[in-house]
Amino acid sequence: MTKSTMKFKTEVSQLLELVTHSLYSNKEIFIRELVSNASDALDKLRLEGLRDKNILENNTDFKIKVDFNKDAETITITDNGIGMTKDEIIDNIGTIAKSGTKEFFARLKDLKSDDKDAKAEQLIGQFGVGFYSAFIVSEKIVIYSKKAGSSEPAVKWESDGKEKFSIEEFKKHDRGTEVILYLNKENFDFASEWRIKEIVKKYSDYISYPIVMTVEREEKPKDKDGKEIKDAEPITKYEDTILNSMKAIWQKDKKHISDEDYNEFYKHISHDWEEPLDRIHLSVEGMLSYKALLYLPKKPPYDLFLREAKIGVSLYVKNVFIMDDNKNLLPEYLRFIKGVVDSADLPLNVSREILQEDKMLEKIKTNLVKKVLETLKKMKEKDSDKYLEFYTAFCKVLKEGLYTDHENKDKLAELVMFESTKTDKGKLTSLKDYVSRMPEDQKEIYFIAGEKRDIIENSPHIEKFKAKDYEVLFFTDPIDEFITNGLFEYEKKAIKSIGKGEIDLGDDETVKKEKEEETKKFKSLLETIKDNLKDEVKEVRVSARLTSSAVCLVSDEHGMTPNMEKLFKSMNQEVPKTKRILEINAKHPLFEALNSIYDKNKEDSRLKDYSELLYDQALLTEGAQLKDPVKFAQKMADLMALEARS
Ligand code: ADP
Repeated sequence: MTKSTMKFKTEVSQLLELVTHSLYSNKEIFIRELVSNASDALDKLRLEGLRDKNILENNTDFKIKVDFNKDAETITITDNGIGMTKDEIIDNIGTIAKSGTKEFFARLKDLKSDDKDAKAEQLIGQFGVGFYSAFIVSEKIVIYSKKAGSSEPAVKWESDGKEKFSIEEFKKHDRGTEVILYLNKENFDFASEWRIKEIVKKYSDYISYPIVMTVEREEKPKDKDGKEIKDAEPITKYEDTILNSMKAIWQKDKKHISDEDYNEFYKHISHDWEEPLDRIHLSVEGMLSYKALLYLPKKPPYDLFLREAKIGVSLYVKNVFIMDDNKNLLPEYLRFIKGVVDSADLPLNVSREILQEDKMLEKIKTNLVKKVLETLKKMKEKDSDKYLEFYTAFCKVLKEGLYTDHENKDKLAELVMFESTKTDKGKLTSLKDYVSRMPEDQKEIYFIAGEKRDIIENSPHIEKFKAKDYEVLFFTDPIDEFITNGLFEYEKKAIKSIGKGEIDLGDDETVKKEKEEETKKFKSLLETIKDNLKDEVKEVRVSARLTSSAVCLVSDEHGMTPNMEKLFKSMNQEVPKTKRILEINAKHPLFEALNSIYDKNKEDSRLKDYSELLYDQALLTEGAQLKDPVKFAQKMADLMALEARS
C-alpha cells in the first residue's frame, strides 16, 4: 500500500482546534489520556484472550511503556494490547464518539462567552476526546499499530493535527500500538524523566498494568570485587523502572486513600473533568464478598437520555476488567452512577448470558441499589444543598425508578421533590413535608400537571384548592404525571390529579345539595352547550373546583390528560383523540344570563357562539393552543363592539 493522505472530518478539525486552545491550562493530562487508551487496549486483548488463547501468541507480559528522547524531543507511549487495523485507525482516530458529535457542537454553541473556556473544557471531558489532547503539546504525532491476531499488515498513521493525516503500511510484527509525540517548541520540557514520572504517579497510579520507563544511568565500571573504578570513564546502562503502584484503588483500605486519589480515579473511569459529587466505597465480606466503588457525578453526561446510554458501572473479577454497561449490576434509572464492582467469587471467563442468571450478582445489585438510595436519603437529610445539586442534575432519571422498580418505590418516593402552591418559585418540597402540612380534613395528595409553573399556578382548576388551603404540587417535568402510574399513594394517601374526574373536597351537605340544585336548574342549558360542542367535549357539568373562573376542562377519572397526550406523542406513540369534560362555575353570573337567553329562545344563535367561546376560554386558561385563534378573536371583537354600543 502506498502512502495516502486523508482529511479529518470537519468536526474533528474543529474539535482539534478547540482542544488545543481551551485545554492549554491543563495540558499535562495528555499522558493520562494516552496511558488510559493503552490500558483499555490491554483490557480488550486480555478479554479476547479468555475466549481465544491463540490471539495472545504466548506473550502475556502485558505492559505499557512511556519513554522520552531529549535529543529528538519526543515522548513515546507503547502498549502490547489489541492494536488497530488500518480501517480501525481511520475510524477511531478520525472521528469523535459518533452519537455525541452533533450534541457536542450544539452545546458548545449554547455556551455564554464569559466562561466559555472553562465550560468547553468540561464539555470536552464529557465527550471523551482523549487522544486529541496530545496535539496540545505536539507538532506531529505518529502512530504505529498492529492488530492482534489479524493477518492485515501493520499501519503507520501520521498527522500534524491540523486538517489531514496520512496512512501507510508498515513492517511491524508485534501486536499493539506505539504513539510517538514530536513535542512542539513550547513543550520540550515534557521530555523529562521526573516530569513524566510525576504525571504518571498523579493520574495513572492505579492502572492495573505496569507502566514502564527505560531510564539511562551513568555508572562507573566496577572491579572484580564489586568496587567502583574511580578513574574509569562512566558507562551508560539502561534500566526499566515501573512508575505506578498498580494497586486497584477499590481493593485498598479506605484509610489509605486520599480524596485526591479517589477523585483522580473517578476522572479516569468517567472521562469527567470535574470532581464527583459523592462516592460510596464498599467492602463486603461473608457469604458474598465483593468490593464496590461508586461515584455520583455532579453533572449528567451528554448521553444520559440517548438510546445508547450505558450503565456506568463496570464489572471486575479479581482486579481484571470483565465488562462494562452491565444491566445486572445496577438498574437503568441509576445509570448515571460511575464506578466498579469487583467480586473474587465469579469465574474470570463469565459471559453476559451467565451473568443474567447469576443469583449472586442479583444480590449484589439489590445491595448496591440499597446503598445508593440510603446514601441519597442521608444526603437529603444532612446536606440539602448538595442533595439539590444532585437532584437537579439527575431527577429525570431517578424518577424512572418509580414505575420500573416496584421494590424500592417507597424509598424513591422519599427522594422525589416538586414545586407546589406553597413553595416559592424554584424551591422544592418533598412528599413528606407536603403531608406534614396537610390540613386535617384533607384526605389526598393533589397535583396539577403542565409545562410551566407560571401557567398552571393560575389555572382555574386550582381555585377551590387554594380557597380551602389545600396544597397542590406542580408536576412540570413531562415524566412527573407518568410516575403516578407506579406511585399511586404516599403514606396511604392517594396521589390525585386535580384535572381529572370528580373531585371530592370534603364539602359539607349543604354545599353538595346546592350543587345538585344548580345541576337541575341549568340542565337544559348544559345539554345545549354540550350539543354545540359535541366534537370537542363528552360532557358539560357543574363544577366543584371553580370559585371565580367561569369554566375549566377536566379529564375522565381514567382518561388521558393533555399533558400525558403530549408525552406519548413526543415518544412517537399514537394517541386516540380523547374528549374531555367541560365544567362550569354555576355561581358565575354568566350562566344566569345564558340561561335567560335560553329560556327566551332555545334556538338563539348566540348560544352556539358563546359555547365555543367558553370552550376556547377553558383552553386558554390551561395554556393550550386554540384550534382557530382568528375565529376566537373575531367573536371577541364582535362581542366587545356590541357591549360598547349598549
Ligand atoms: P476514547 O479513549 O475516549 O474512546 P480517544 O480519542 O482517546 O477516545 O480514542 C479513540 C479510540 O481509538 C479508542 O476508543 C480506541 O478504540 C482507539 N485507540 C486509541 N488508542 C488506542 C491504543 N493504544 N490501542 C488500541 N486502540 C486505541
